[in-house]
Amino acid sequence: MSRVWNFSAGPAALPQAVLERAQRELLDWNGSGASVMEQSHRGKRFIAMAAQAEADLRGLLAIPETYAVLFLQGGATQHFAQIPMNLAGTGDSADYVVSGHWSAKAAGEAAPYVRVNVAASSAADDYLQLPPREQWQLDPRAAYVHYTPNETIHGVEFHDVPEVGEVPLVADMSSNILSGPLDVGRFGLIYAGAQKNIGPSGLVVMIVRRDLLQRATRPMARIFSYAAQAAADSMLNTPNTWGWYLAGLTFQWLKEQGGLERIAAANRAKAGLLYEAIDGSGGFYRNPVAPPSRSRMNVPFTLHDGALDAAFLQESEAAGLLALKGHKALGGMRASLYNAVPLEAVQALVAFMRDFAARHG
Ligand code: PMP
Repeated sequence: MSRVWNFSAGPAALPQAVLERAQRELLDWNGSGASVMEQSHRGKRFIAMAAQAEADLRGLLAIPETYAVLFLQGGATQHFAQIPMNLAGTGDSADYVVSGHWSAKAAGEAAPYVRVNVAASSAADDYLQLPPREQWQLDPRAAYVHYTPNETIHGVEFHDVPEVGEVPLVADMSSNILSGPLDVGRFGLIYAGAQKNIGPSGLVVMIVRRDLLQRATRPMARIFSYAAQAAADSMLNTPNTWGWYLAGLTFQWLKEQGGLERIAAANRAKAGLLYEAIDGSGGFYRNPVAPPSRSRMNVPFTLHDGALDAAFLQESEAAGLLALKGHKALGGMRASLYNAVPLEAVQALVAFMRDFAARHG
């Protein structure tokens, strides 16, 4: 069996070098004679590994000391609810920018815990372009502003951090964290489900300004409290030890690649190649997103004749190109080009697309 080129939206491709290292270390991790999954999170070895993973992430993103880094569970979806529990008091409102499926979901899940103000929405444009910043109706008294820098399904991405004044900016970076350098100081809170650019599902990485941890006023179980998790080094209960370990290996791999500037350049080259092939196909393939709003991570596209979809999927899979089927909300195809997807994968995809168009055009 050989490995395929994997364009899955998530859980997504992991760097092959990370998987190989995990495989080598599986039965005997760190000279312990047992796997990392079989050991106490309170043991010296695990605590050292966890601290190293955090240090490597801090190095990659230049995270200031005024921010806590948390390794949590529950998926990004659980934090759609936990963020308002922790950052908003009773009666507070929060601004939500709705630019696609996931930001709409974040706003909906927050509603039991905070008065949700939809400050901007591109729903009326079918999410084909980002809501222009000058049209956002922000409330200076809002507890925070929430947005989704990259919409995994609709394939739109903010290429700059929006200016929102003094109100803390909260970002769901599940599908573009670590895809390039970031000015963490512009944010109040960043969170990401791990299963795209970091590691396996079941782990959420959060970067939160420490002063915001003091905000929670409503009664809640300690397990929901970010302040309590920060005080316990994310080990209030048993963490996802395997996920944390793999995340640490991915952070080391990113460092070995030369850091996030290099990763960003590779991501630009990959996305550029695919968009060029789509736009240059004479209408055989089409990506409907306004070019300035296009995502580097998730590229949805349709074929000019939907009757060819089944053949495209069958033949692409036979050619070793996995998981190109689009999300059911949009239909068509989607190629996800996360950090672990190499340029060769995109070259193989583009060559297949040209050949398919020549045969079916
Ligand atoms: N936000 C974004 C941007 C996503 O892409 C996803 C998952 N695809 C989620 C949130 C939900 O993540 P989870 O399944 O970890 O709850």
